[in-house]
Amino acid sequence: MAIEQQQPTKKINCGYCQAEVEIPPFASVVTCPYCGTPNELRTGKIIQNHHMLSVYFSGSELTELIPEYLSKYVGVPSDFADKVIFTDFELRMMPFWVFKFHGHTDYTGLGKYCPAVHSTHWSRSINIQTRPERGSIDLDQTCLVFGYREQHKEIRDEKIPVGSKEAFDINAVNAEGGRIYDTEIGYDEAYRNAEEQVKKRHNELIYREIYKIEGLNQKIDLKEVSYLHVPFYRITYKYGNWTGEALVDAARGKVLRAEYPISRSHRFWGFTFILLALGVIGGAIFAALQTALSEWGLAGIVAAVIFAGVLIFGIKETVTKKKVAAE
Ligand SMILES: [Zn+2]
Repeated sequence: MAIEQQQPTKKINCGYCQAEVEIPPFASVVTCPYCGTPNELRTGKIIQNHHMLSVYFSGSELTELIPEYLSKYVGVPSDFADKVIFTDFELRMMPFWVFKFHGHTDYTGLGKYCPAVHSTHWSRSINIQTRPERGSIDLDQTCLVFGYREQHKEIRDEKIPVGSKEAFDINAVNAEGGRIYDTEIGYDEAYRNAEEQVKKRHNELIYREIYKIEGLNQKIDLKEVSYLHVPFYRITYKYGNWTGEALVDAARGKVLRAEYPISRSHRFWGFTFILLALGVIGGAIFAALQTALSEWGLAGIVAAVIFAGVLIFGIKETVTKKKVAAE
């Protein structure tokens, strides 16, 4: 029997309270579970600005939120709200970097304009000309960078209400039973990413005014940076023997995705459709063999391919008895 090799767990001492803290794989920052201080591993420094969004939705509110959210989806069993049993609520504090910039760009380039046409005839073609133009963009901007590259994709594009952030409070997180997730994207990478967002925004604004940039003088100042933890609930529930899960933004009470069982009648139609589709595919193949290479044969093959595509979706839903509702 093979004995599993245990990697020695790496540890650091918290830069604030000196407690020994384990380093999870891939982490760039480790938040001390005792005092709540984030330690940046590359520099060994502690991050001064650490914020969180508070949990406003938990317990009974969540158990109402999910059936209510699912009620608008087709195929959810009509007795789902009565029979669903919630088995687990896992609170995850997910990491974001928040940068506040002030960006200023002076630009020169070419703009387009239509010279006034002194003509008596309306059909004369419009003559678009170019001329040199200059201008500046002056903008305060808040940029968010989610802490994971590949994992937890459903959270990455969430609109986070950064304005309501509060100082991070480890006692509040522990009281709710929250688990802290730390970023794998370190400060430097996050900074470059955020700065790119600023440049992109300035470019968009410039190209509204001119069509060709010839000169840029840009100054992007960092005003504030913060490490932010945002609460999400991963909820598990049962409906008879069926088990599914949902993800909820716990600060805003917004369901991001929720699995649901497919009702009996919906599955009946699913099966009927599968049989029907198999019939059409069979017929098409038969027709194709009979009239090889004729136009009808070709049409049959096309129909078969389309139906086979639809069929794969139908089978998956009908067999797994599971569907995901997400906006
Ligand atoms: Zn500590």
